[in-house]
Amino acid sequence: MSNIEKTPESVPAVTPEAASPQAAKTDQQWRDELTPAEFDVLRRSGTERPFTGEYWDTHTQGVYQCRACGAELFTSGEKFDSSCGWPSFWAPLAEGNVRYIHDRSLGMDRVEVRCATCDSHLGHVFEGEGLGNPTDQRFCINSVSLKLVPAS
Ligand SMILES: [Zn+2]
Repeated sequence: MSNIEKTPESVPAVTPEAASPQAAKTDQQWRDELTPAEFDVLRRSGTERPFTGEYWDTHTQGVYQCRACGAELFTSGEKFDSSCGWPSFWAPLAEGNVRYIHDRSLGMDRVEVRCATCDSHLGHVFEGEGLGNPTDQRFCINSVSLKLVPAS
């Protein structure tokens, strides 16, 4: 009558992966999570065609997150109309949210902008175009790299 044993089976397992950085994902994991268009831009440094993206002409107030990992990257406060056909910002939400890489591909000398959290490709930044914004910079970002969270 006293052969009842306590079983430790119901102790929840601690999974250390839960705290690992998103940058550790494999290409296959990204392919599973992203649409083909998102994968091509975010993980293969592709570029969406101008005037076709979701946000190039958007004036909604809110925060633009990384489409791949959800990190907050830009806000509507720094977005401006550059008429280039891609969402344009004159600054990121904060330095440190994005990282910069010298890009000499396609015969051009450009500065690539990536998400600092997951290292996904966002677009390029151009300087000194005289567009009349506070930094004289244009962060030319693919819509498909971003997700707008409208201010409530
Ligand atoms: Zn990211």
